[in-house]
Amino acid sequence: MSAAKALMEARAAGVTVRIENDDLVLAAAAPPPAAVLDQLSRHKAGIVLLLRPGADGWSAEDWRAFFDERARIAEFDAGLPRPKAEANAFGCCVSEWLNRNFVRSPPGRCLACGGGDHAHDPLVPFGTETAGHVWLHSRCWPAWYAGRKTKAVAALAAMKIATCETLTMTAQGAAAG
Ligand SMILES: [Zn+2]
Repeated sequence: MSAAKALMEARAAGVTVRIENDDLVLAAAAPPPAAVLDQLSRHKAGIVLLLRPGADGWSAEDWRAFFDERARIAEFDAGLPRPKAEANAFGCCVSEWLNRNFVRSPPGRCLACGGGDHAHDPLVPFGTETAGHVWLHSRCWPAWYAGRKTKAVAALAAMKIATCETLTMTAQGAAAG
């Protein structure tokens, strides 16, 4: 049984699970079955990891819920086959990760190459008014953005959110690195 499954079964048994520091805090209206408690304590470390919010405010479980919801919408509302729906959902997760882990940089210097603003090679603000901007040369942007996406894919893969395609990519990256 995985940590996610243990958590799911505990909730099905009416147990509310939250974390406090590195501990699980349980609440239930009635004493839960011993098997449920046993699985929770066996998977405690994994469950803490699942429920602990990251720097962007979302826990691995939040990301999983977001992915599942997007995949469900793509599969049932848009009628896509499951692998396509999952690829679609993964793309949504990458965009969301990039939004939630947005990078800002002060104007006047390219965040990628460190160069300045020149008439023949101007700095351009990328981003949105609300999130803020990152300043880059147009020519520096594609590689910088590709690097950001790689980071997003790796962060999501660490939370076991991936499509078959990205799993292969990550495995190849790990083998190459
Ligand atoms: Zn540059």
